[in-house]
Amino acid sequence: MVVVLKKNVSEEDKKRIKDFLISRSFKINEISGEEDTVIAAVGRAHLEKEDLFTLPGVESVIPISKPYKLASREFKKENTIVEIPNNRGQMIRLGGQRLVTIAGPQMIESCEQIFKIAREVASCGAVILRGGVYKPHFSPYSFQGLGEEGLKYLKEAGEKYGLPVCTEIVSPVLIPMMKDYVDVYQIGAQNMQDFDLLKNVGALGKPVILKRSYTATVEELLMAAEYLLSSGTDQVVLCERGIRTFESSTNNTLDLSSVPVLKAHTHLPVIVDPCHSVKHRSQVPQMALAALASGADGIMLQVHGSNGKGFSEAATSLETVQFNKLMHDVEALAPVLGKAIVHIREEKIQNKNTDANASEKKSDKITCAYSGSKGAYAQQAISRYFDDADVDSVPLDSFSQLFKAVTDGKVDYGMVPIENSLAGSVYQNYDNFSRFQDVSIVGSITLNIRHSLLGVKGAALSDIKNVYSHPQALAQCKKFLDQQNEWNQIDAVSTATAAQMVAQGGKKENAAIGSSVNAQIYGLNILQEDIEDDPHNFTRFVIIQANHVARLPDAHQQNIKANMASFIFTTKNEAGALFSVLEIFSKMKLNLTRLESRPITGQSWKYWFYTDIEIPEDTENPQKKIDEVLSLIKEKTEDLRLLGIYSEEKH
Ligand code: PEP
Ligand code: MN
Repeated sequence: MVVVLKKNVSEEDKKRIKDFLISRSFKINEISGEEDTVIAAVGRAHLEKEDLFTLPGVESVIPISKPYKLASREFKKENTIVEIPNNRGQMIRLGGQRLVTIAGPQMIESCEQIFKIAREVASCGAVILRGGVYKPHFSPYSFQGLGEEGLKYLKEAGEKYGLPVCTEIVSPVLIPMMKDYVDVYQIGAQNMQDFDLLKNVGALGKPVILKRSYTATVEELLMAAEYLLSSGTDQVVLCERGIRTFESSTNNTLDLSSVPVLKAHTHLPVIVDPCHSVKHRSQVPQMALAALASGADGIMLQVHGSNGKGFSEAATSLETVQFNKLMHDVEALAPVLGKAIVHIREEKIQNKNTDANASEKKSDKITCAYSGSKGAYAQQAISRYFDDADVDSVPLDSFSQLFKAVTDGKVDYGMVPIENSLAGSVYQNYDNFSRFQDVSIVGSITLNIRHSLLGVKGAALSDIKNVYSHPQALAQCKKFLDQQNEWNQIDAVSTATAAQMVAQGGKKENAAIGSSVNAQIYGLNILQEDIEDDPHNFTRFVIIQANHVARLPDAHQQNIKANMASFIFTTKNEAGALFSVLEIFSKMKLNLTRLESRPITGQSWKYWFYTDIEIPEDTENPQKKIDEVLSLIKEKTEDLRLLGIYSEEKH
């Protein structure tokens, strides 16, 4: 049951309520939300609601209707984020806004094999290394695994590449031996209802991936999770991997429809293993993408490397080239899903905050500035690009303040929009690059802009008379607005400001167009989602940093090879000057993806140029290649400045 406490409950009353529940053998968990404080209580004892109402401080008592309690959303509304640290001081979080990829061989076959696969999967973007050492195979005559020897290799390989490791445990007897090697325990499909195993592994308090048995219903999976949770861990990840049906063209039927069901009924993260459902590896990537589209927080993949000759489930294990392609596709899909991807940090960790102004900063977290107020799309870009828990986003009033704050070292980074797929370039920011000489581009992220209609609590669509938003957002929702009965459209400085105005006014007739994040921040309800005319509404942001600071670059930019370079230049005022620059790109077979010309302030009819060029994927040393380009262009230009060599997501 969930006991909702009165708003101003005293600490004394709260303690009395808790003590009462504990005395009746209830397991309790206090959850303080923004609005309410609740005590979730689970136990077998029978309790009349009235028994609780006699205690001061109790507002209401809501029974949990599901047979699973600790796993249910009734017990805990917010998503559980499972935290898995690596050996590079980084926390990998499963269940939040970032997609996690777990990859590795079905079974560890040798030291050489796991090191090779670890290197390959890490370089493609896996963040947790998997590998079996005890295989509950159907046949006692098949390879049974390397046991502890395999675990040693797994751990060493994981440590070398910054990957925490995950492996299946088949018996509680193995815990004392396994616990020094394992970061995430996996309970296999065949053992999902081994309750003794569940209780013992749960008691370790470590992250556990619980795979759905091929004969289990969603409810049975959640009841198995309840065993883990009630034994002492709150770090449980559920894994859909396919169930047995009459279908014989596949190994199992991958029940992706269970993913949204699970997400609705439980707060626990959900991942999908597509390899156990298909008969051939060629079908894995499609199912992996479908899994993420269905709402999964991550995917678990069997990868047996390049030229892998793994003898365990080789037909359904991906080769490295396929895995690499899949990870590129995931990168392109993520912004559409409103998510980003977890990346592993580089090994070398430099000291951050080496600049003189670092002392001005409030905390040890990375700081990233944006222009706008809380809930702006740029703030969403920050929480996607950086890990939310590692970054403080700092709202500023204008783009030029943002560039100045970065230059002065008041913040570590700035999130700068530079183009929108519908509205075009944000010229102001191109100009800021020319004005602020001391910043460079260190990364880029593209956000899919989704607008919702937000109203005050209790308002319905039929109540609305006035709609507030940034003029661009109003324009982007034209079709939707045209269908309404003559709503007044009122301009606001930003979508966040519009949401704030509507919330403060408290009137049912007012609505704002903004993001779902705005709804959360300003306590508004979403009256209708995705009201934009064109879903291909993307804004590309670049992340800027001051040149004079050497600090820890975030994980996102580190592990991805640079594929983009940006620079600005002016040309000599003579015939063919721009052509002679472009000719160099052409000769070097470099794809120019953007060329902007901007007037030079104070010099009528003279222009400077901003350009983005793509660095081909097979370029071994991007820095060297760009140096070469620059030395050639230098002769044809004036004021040539490299803004940055960085990685950009592809669509
Ligand atoms: C595995 O992931 O190695 C495995 C054995 O899978 P499952 O338990 O889903 O069969
Ligand atoms: Mn398997």
